[in-house]
Amino acid sequence: MLALAEIFYTVQGEGTWTGTPAVFVRLAGCNLNCRFCDTDYALKFFATVEQVTARVRELGAACPMVVLTGGEPLAQAESSALVAALQADGRRVHIESNGSVPVELPPQTWLTVSPKERLHPLMAARADEIKLIVDGRVPLEWLDAFPRREVTVFLQPEGNKPANVALALAAAKAAPERLRLSLQTHKFIGIP
Ligand code: SF4
Repeated sequence: MLALAEIFYTVQGEGTWTGTPAVFVRLAGCNLNCRFCDTDYALKFFATVEQVTARVRELGAACPMVVLTGGEPLAQAESSALVAALQADGRRVHIESNGSVPVELPPQTWLTVSPKERLHPLMAARADEIKLIVDGRVPLEWLDAFPRREVTVFLQPEGNKPANVALALAAAKAAPERLRLSLQTHKFIGIP
């Protein structure tokens, strides 16, 4: 059984896939406790893998992209079964993880890693994109833990706050080969 916070159809607002329609499956709970966390990942309901897959089909119809987010989606024992079921149903599965829980993922799975308190080397090596949260400082020290230099690194200002935007922008301009600014575009237009 999976513990869930919400399932909704929207567009991806951040990173490489910004603007792409996607069904978001927010799994409940997190194994970390970041002070700046503003995500409501509290448990709202339980569902089986089959029920979640059916709900994604119902909401997203022909939408190919599904984002598993949280909380920490990979902290749940049945997360791999959910990935497999969604992929068998024809969905392109993206996962937004803090990278602290080591899980083997099928190669066609897109993995966004946003490191917080700790990072597992397996997930650092697997990341398809890296998202660093800028909250009063730019935590570039995390980059040493990611072995693949070709992976895009997004700097995302916490809360879209002007001071954090200025810090992220300055850092990106200072290292334009490696860094990009990522804004939470969905918040500008008031959608989840
Ligand atoms: S890892 Fe992400 S979801 Fe978990 S507490 Fe930190 S910011 Fe919130």
